[in-house]
Amino acid sequence: MNVIQNHLPTEELQAIDAAHHLHPFTSGDEINAKGARVITRAKGVWLTDSDGNELLDAMAGLWCVNIGYGRDELAEVAAQQMRQLPYYNTFFQTTHIPALELAQRIAALAPGDLNHVFFASGGSEANDTNIRLVRSYWQNVGKPTKTAIIARVNAYHGSSMGSASLGGMAAMHAQGGLPIPDIHHIGQPHWWAEGGDRDPEEFGLMRARELKEKIAELGEANVAALIAEPIQGAGGVIVPPDSYWPEIQRICDEHEILLIADEVICGFGRTGDWFGSQTLNIRPDIMTIAKGVTSGYLPLGGSIVSDRVAEGLNKDEFNHGYTYSGHPVAAAVALENLRIIEEEGIVERVRDVIGPYLARKWEGLNDHPIVGGAHAFGLMAGLALTPDKQSKAIFDTPPGTVGLRCREACFRNGLVMRHVGDRMIISPPLVLSEEEVDMLVDRAMRALDETHGWLREEGII
Ligand SMILES: *Cc1c(COP(=O)(O)O)cnc(C)c1O
Repeated sequence: MNVIQNHLPTEELQAIDAAHHLHPFTSGDEINAKGARVITRAKGVWLTDSDGNELLDAMAGLWCVNIGYGRDELAEVAAQQMRQLPYYNTFFQTTHIPALELAQRIAALAPGDLNHVFFASGGSEANDTNIRLVRSYWQNVGKPTKTAIIARVNAYHGSSMGSASLGGMAAMHAQGGLPIPDIHHIGQPHWWAEGGDRDPEEFGLMRARELKEKIAELGEANVAALIAEPIQGAGGVIVPPDSYWPEIQRICDEHEILLIADEVICGFGRTGDWFGSQTLNIRPDIMTIAKGVTSGYLPLGGSIVSDRVAEGLNKDEFNHGYTYSGHPVAAAVALENLRIIEEEGIVERVRDVIGPYLARKWEGLNDHPIVGGAHAFGLMAGLALTPDKQSKAIFDTPPGTVGLRCREACFRNGLVMRHVGDRMIISPPLVLSEEEVDMLVDRAMRALDETHGWLREEGII
């Protein structure tokens, strides 16, 4: 049996990696010069690297390991399913039990009449599906001019051509001629960075009303859908002002466009409900899922659609699908993951216990001299690094310089925290304990102190 061993010294592993492995969202020259960190094992919320260092993973991998690492039940289910039916497709009038059971389970968990699931292998694929799905829907119901999709600046919806076009990341659009045609962006509800002197609620309304203006500009007869994350994740854990979502919902209700909630991060417990749309009182027509649906143990994503959308879509053949749509092993693992989340009361624990506890501790970081706007929502949180929290000023260095410095300090202190520009963000496994929250925040504090010291030494503040 070819069991992968960690039998080589770290430098040799890094040399092989540098010689042959191209990394996502990474400058190759930079990583090859310094050597990638090699992660070899994980348990609970803890990672171990090839030098034996233990790191508290405050990012749950990439926002996905909701039930934590090392759950044998998922390994057992995967092995069993591989023995019984390792693969079959769901094209051409066939189905299999893991896919149909998972679709039923997800339909039961999803709010309202979101009762139908189209599977993909991740969030990017699912959002590509959504582009084609909403256009097919409008075509089938006799409104073929409704093709435009409205999305938001600094949104993240994936990295394929379609999903990256929906996303509003300038650096991604700059590489490869994105966005594709007929995708339009409106501003984001990022009060800390863009609200200026405005009251947050007034700013939230202002940003929501950009949707109305964009619909008017494009013509309602040409607009298929709005896509948005309930809480922007990769954009920096941006929690919109309370006024924002009710106004967006009102505008969607008033106009004939579909609302797609990208729940890839918010779904499966992160916000203290099964879906962020429930926490924020959003009534989407379609939800994108991925990440937490399997806790990242295997790749799986999907689009959950309402009765009305399914009815329209089903009128004609949908010329779309992926070889691995509803992959049986991934679906079986998802079912087991959802069973664990439910039986262990993980969603309720986020809402009632560990979410409020994290919020209290995290928001204490606001006392630190270089921290502003530290805010948690369920089990995700963000803060801005700033030279002056009163004026919400930004540093005089290229964006991301201080954030990267802080991230490196986190690693030195045994903590994985991510930076987005000069914001620091976390999204830990939902199963972390109170003691682990304390360790997380203590380590973050030490990293902030080191960053503060460096900023002074360099004369940046
Ligand atoms: C990660 C992410 C995606 C993309 O999912 P992949 O599985 O990486 O393709 C889409 N939307 C959101 C909100 C995400 O965070």
